[in-house]
Amino acid sequence: MLKLLKVGHCFHPEAMVMKGHSWQSMQFPAIVGLIKHPQKGYVLFDTGYAKRFKQETERFPERFYRWLTPFHICEKESLVYQLSQLNIGADEINAIFISHFHADHISGLLDFPSASFICSKVALDTFISLGRIKGLIKGYLPKLLPSDFVKRCSFIEDTKKIIIRNKYAPFSAGYDVFSDGGFIAIPLPGHAVGQFGLLLESSGKSCFLIGDACWTREAYQEGVRPNILTYAIMDNGKQYLETLDKLSQVYLSNKKIQIIPSHCQLSFESFKSG
Ligand SMILES: [Zn+2]
Ligand SMILES: [Zn+2]
Repeated sequence: MLKLLKVGHCFHPEAMVMKGHSWQSMQFPAIVGLIKHPQKGYVLFDTGYAKRFKQETERFPERFYRWLTPFHICEKESLVYQLSQLNIGADEINAIFISHFHADHISGLLDFPSASFICSKVALDTFISLGRIKGLIKGYLPKLLPSDFVKRCSFIEDTKKIIIRNKYAPFSAGYDVFSDGGFIAIPLPGHAVGQFGLLLESSGKSCFLIGDACWTREAYQEGVRPNILTYAIMDNGKQYLETLDKLSQVYLSNKKIQIIPSHCQLSFESFKSG
């Protein structure tokens, strides 16, 4: 089972995300995946925004982050509240898969004291090694990480590498995170160091949660590219475009696969759970 939750949203000029569009500010949801795994129980894909993002960006230089990407989250949109409405306690979340360490994906980690974390080793090493200022430039806020994070985390790269089915070509390999073939981490380089997406397969349905490999579905469906200014904050612009091209090929060859970018309102609205 996969359910999508909108956990806050940010504002961005449309033209930054979609080259040639208007410079009007547009809302982008922060989408979290809630997965009920048959053996592992409740697992989250990212955590979206949380109020502590605001606290952690009160001071300078962190305040620049909030200026560049203004955001909004109200109590009813908070992840813990939305889970409570589904009768799921925060302590019932057993694991959190982290696509990458940008603050809009990890702001809620501290709300889940019982969860273990699944992330990329190279992503975590980069996050830790950059420090406060260099990390901030890359969109990282170290204080969002629980102090016992390292003790509670396991690395995607340490799980079994597998060849994935032809229907996902040109993606060819992934990591079988729970050793059941239904929860597969796929490298999506370019946007941030060590970014991974998650391919979920159950009852013949396939969902591909792709984090920030692109911001809207127009990118892989219609070839809409971001503004050149956004390449300055990417880890690797060339890899970003290669990843996007692969996603377009998956989309064109099999439209039944639901590809879900973390900030795409249309994908959120049209998602069919299952
Ligand atoms: Zn990101
Ligand atoms: Zn993001």
